Amino acid sequence: MLDLRFYGAAQTTTGSMHIIEFDGKKILLDCGLVQGKRKESFELNRQFPFDPREVHALVLSHSHIDHSGKIPALVKQGFRGKIYATSATCDLCEVMLRDSAFLQERDVEFVNKRRKKQGKNLFELLYGQEDVDRALELFSPLDYHTGVEIAKGLELNFNDAGHILGSAVSILDYKRDGKKRRLVFTGDLGQRNTPLLRDPEPVPDTDVLITESTYGDRNHPSRENIRGRLKDYITFIYQHRSKLIIPAFSVGRTQQLLYILNGLVESHAIPPIPVFVDSPLSKKATEITEHHQECYNNNLIGDVLKGDDPFKFPGLQFTNTVEDSMKLNDAKGPMIIISASGMCEGGRILHHLRNSVSNPLNIILITGFQAENTLGRRIVEQAPIIKIFGEEHELRSTVFTINGLSGHADREGLCDYAATLGNVQQAFCVHGEKEYCEAHVESLRKLGIPSVHMPVQGQLFRNV
Ligand SMILES: [Zn+2]
Repeated sequence: MLDLRFYGAAQTTTGSMHIIEFDGKKILLDCGLVQGKRKESFELNRQFPFDPREVHALVLSHSHIDHSGKIPALVKQGFRGKIYATSATCDLCEVMLRDSAFLQERDVEFVNKRRKKQGKNLFELLYGQEDVDRALELFSPLDYHTGVEIAKGLELNFNDAGHILGSAVSILDYKRDGKKRRLVFTGDLGQRNTPLLRDPEPVPDTDVLITESTYGDRNHPSRENIRGRLKDYITFIYQHRSKLIIPAFSVGRTQQLLYILNGLVESHAIPPIPVFVDSPLSKKATEITEHHQECYNNNLIGDVLKGDDPFKFPGLQFTNTVEDSMKLNDAKGPMIIISASGMCEGGRILHHLRNSVSNPLNIILITGFQAENTLGRRIVEQAPIIKIFGEEHELRSTVFTINGLSGHADREGLCDYAATLGNVQQAFCVHGEKEYCEAHVESLRKLGIPSVHMPVQGQLFRNV
């Protein structure tokens, strides 16, 4: 008997965590950190709604922190089972979780300073680097399409989800009343025809589907000429000897941008220009991407076979130290700076923005979704004044947005994927704000799936 319980990313897009109970064994699907307003997420991340010591194994869809970021806390609180993930995900988790531990240490210091003043009890650190070390020992790499029995009578396989490097759709095969049954968990599902990764791979004969619904109610704008637009912006800053500043997520977006720039430089479509990737995490993520060619799509493999390094080109430099990063503040353009964080909530991008936003000849290029209450959102909305490090700055640079690099399938992509799965009997929509999730429930019903649910936090479904 297989029961399903939804603990995170239920009618929201953060803190992905679901639990399967199969013949008395608890298997966790994802173990994500809740991200959002500091106070609320801080409380939510403190505890688990189950005893981590009772969890038999963890199946991890991909390395993004909202899917993996609570793993060291799970281990700290007694989990000792195996963590199944693709080998690219294992490698990315090492750098992502170390970075997350560093941020946890900084956050708890910040919160405790205030609590100390108020005479309140101090919070314990959610996890530190030594908890990350112990968690990494439990990772058990599993290649795509290679089955493993993770509990007696329960087999796990991974298909490519096309979302970020190493992302997987998890396939769980078991028997119900003596008949074969297949449960599929999409994790985050990518777009088709993206520059680096393969398309999300369908899974035939699926009976039960747990699907993300981030963009369940809307389609992405039709494919933009991203290469052409980048070329125009670069030509402009070259002529005006100014800067093109691109806030970008370290994993995925940065490598997509480097790949497109590589094409522009090597085809001589743009003049020679210095390109700085200013984020240690982005540098590591790029190295891991170069290493995991088993995740590349055919176009990218073709480039590699021709002898090209798709993420390296003349003029590109990775800055490591804070001093090197600071030097860029005084350096004269033209230059391109790609830096994190992607939503401008922290990291070195803040220095570059502070230094650049008042110059009308600079361009700020936004390449990803910017959540509410972030500096990135204020910039997209072209607020006349923005606050960086507590100081007000006039936003006089030109702001452009490219939407076409999104790592998530849109409404059409999600529906098309569900339609390829076969005769799905039961579906659960997760990982979407309520209205997006509702829209996807509707779409799946229209596809003819007889039983579609939008679980709430903690909801249990028996014998699926
Ligand atoms: Zn993701």
